[in-house]
Amino acid sequence: MVKVGVLALQGDYLEHYQLLRSLSGVEAVPVKHPRELEGVDALVIPGGESTTIGLLVRKKGLEEPLKQFAGEGKPILATCAGAILLAREVVDRTVGETGQYTLGLMDIAVVRNAYGRQRDSFIASVTLKDIGEVKAAFIRAPIIARAYGSAEIIGFLDDPTLGRHGVAARQGNMYAVTFHPEITGDIKLYKHIIQQAGR
Ligand code: GLN
Repeated sequence: MVKVGVLALQGDYLEHYQLLRSLSGVEAVPVKHPRELEGVDALVIPGGESTTIGLLVRKKGLEEPLKQFAGEGKPILATCAGAILLAREVVDRTVGETGQYTLGLMDIAVVRNAYGRQRDSFIASVTLKDIGEVKAAFIRAPIIARAYGSAEIIGFLDDPTLGRHGVAARQGNMYAVTFHPEITGDIKLYKHIIQQAGR
């Protein structure tokens, strides 16, 4: 059994939890407190509202435990607001660095709500390096504007306004995707981190 935690502070953690529960060989557990990270082999950080999740992470004393979890090399799949939470920089096209609180665990710069109102939500197929094609739901999604250090962009989308831009990045054991795989029910990313946790 691989024990997969879902950070359950805010956002659509329930959808991830239910999807994980449907996979064989997986024990899914909600994580709201530091002690619930004990024995967890891999972690999913859901989408939602990144400033709220960041606030609750600090309020619940989860900042250091999450950094330690990542430092131990255990796989993390961070989706949408979760990806923002892992990013080192949250930037805005007009003001530059926003100063938004994040865990800063991945060497990526993200732009929140980058698609604007015209494309608030859409579904697209994205090909991810070493993972394959994933059906992805974008909901008021950020984009990954840059990756540096040991982070690498592993998935791109083309957009008439934004041009070619990053929607998935990897840095060692950590995966940040700007979309929601739990909404389309595409299990590839989950399988990937579960396989890595089982190694
Ligand atoms: N727009 C949200 C944010 O910036 C992220 C949206 C999502 O997680 N679906 O926090």
